[in-house]
Amino acid sequence: MINILDLTPEELKQKLKESGEKPFRADQILNWIYEGVFSFDDMKNLGEGTRALLKREFSVDVPEIIKLLKSVDGTRKGLLKLKDSHIIEAVLMKYEHGYSVCISTQVGCRMGCSFCASTKEGLIRNLTAGEMIGQILALQQVAGERISNLVLMGSGEPLDNFDEVARFLGMVSSPWGLAIGQRHITLSTCGIAPRIRDFADLDNQVTLAISLHQPTQAERQKLMPVAWQHDLTSLFEALRYYQTKTNRRISFEYALVDGVNDTPEAAQALRVLLRGLKCHVNLIPLNEIKDGLYKKPDLKKIEAFRARLESFNIPTTIRREMGSDIDAACGQLKRSFLDQGGDDVGGEDV
Ligand code: SAH
Repeated sequence: MINILDLTPEELKQKLKESGEKPFRADQILNWIYEGVFSFDDMKNLGEGTRALLKREFSVDVPEIIKLLKSVDGTRKGLLKLKDSHIIEAVLMKYEHGYSVCISTQVGCRMGCSFCASTKEGLIRNLTAGEMIGQILALQQVAGERISNLVLMGSGEPLDNFDEVARFLGMVSSPWGLAIGQRHITLSTCGIAPRIRDFADLDNQVTLAISLHQPTQAERQKLMPVAWQHDLTSLFEALRYYQTKTNRRISFEYALVDGVNDTPEAAQALRVLLRGLKCHVNLIPLNEIKDGLYKKPDLKKIEAFRARLESFNIPTTIRREMGSDIDAACGQLKRSFLDQGGDDVGGEDV
C-alpha cells in the first residue's frame, strides 16, 4: 500500500500511469484529500474502476486521534495513532490570526536532552513526510478551518530526519497541498551543526529556531548531549553561514531552569554569544516533567532575565505557556499515557 500523503502530484501521476490509470486523476484525488475527504468512496468524480484500483494499491493514512485534551486556554493536544500503532503527539493552538499546529517529526528522539520527556526511550523511528502531513490534516478537521501556521517542535529532532523533513517542507507549502506559506513555518533544532548548513542550502523561507538553553559549552553539554558532538563554536559557525546565506533572523529558544541558566552571568554570556547575529530570544518557562530534576523559576525571575536581555538590546519574548495544564510540552502527554498503561489521562475520547 502506498500512502498518497507521501506523494507529490507528479509522483502520484507516475504511479497511476504504472497501474494503467489516467494520470490526470492524480489532481482530482489530491483535491479531494486536501479538501478533507479521505475515503476513496466519497470521491464522487472517480469511476468505480478507479476507486477499486485505489483501494487495492493506495491508502490515505491520516492518523487516528485516540485522545484529545483541551486546555483552559483552548489549546488542544492530540495523541495520534500511526498505521503501525506507534503513538505520537501533535498540538493545535488558536491565535488571533488563526490556527497553528505543532507536529512531531520522529517517534521518540535520540538527542537525550535531560529536561525533555520525548527522549526517555530513545528514537523508535523516523516519520515520513506523509505522516507529518497527516498530523496537520487530522488536526485541521478538529479546528474546522484552515491551518495557517506550523511549528516543527513536537517530539523528535527534525534535522535528524533531514531528508523527509526537507521533502515535507516542500510539499506542505505547495499550492496543490496545504499551501502553508514557508514564512509561517518554524523548524526547531537542538543544533546539529552540519545539518544546519544543509538546511541553509535548501534556500527556503522557513524560520529556524535553535534550542540553546545554555550559553556556555561547559553548561550546555550538561543539559544537552548533542553539544558534545556539535559544540557551541561549530553551532555558531553554522548559524553564521545560515544567516549570511538566507539573511533571516534566527530564533533562540531558552528554557529557563531555576538556578541553572537564569543568572546574571548566564545573561551576560548569552549577550557575548549572540553578538553580531540578527536574532530573537524566546524564553520558555520550564515545563516540569515527572520525576524531573529541574524546576522553573518564579515569574519575577523570568521577568528579570527578560529585562536584562532587553537591556542588551536583544529582542526577547516570554512564551505563553499554552496548554501546560494538559501536558502539552514535548512528549509529556504520551509519557503520562504510557505510564498509566495506555489508560485514561483525562480529556475527550474520540
Ligand atoms: N528537537 C527539537 C524540537 C523539539 S522540542 C529541538 O530540540 O528544538 C521543542 C522545544 O521544547 C525545544 O526547544 C526543547 O528544548 C523544548 N523543551 C523540551 N522539553 C521541555 C520542557 N520540559 N520544558 C520546556 N521546554 C522544553
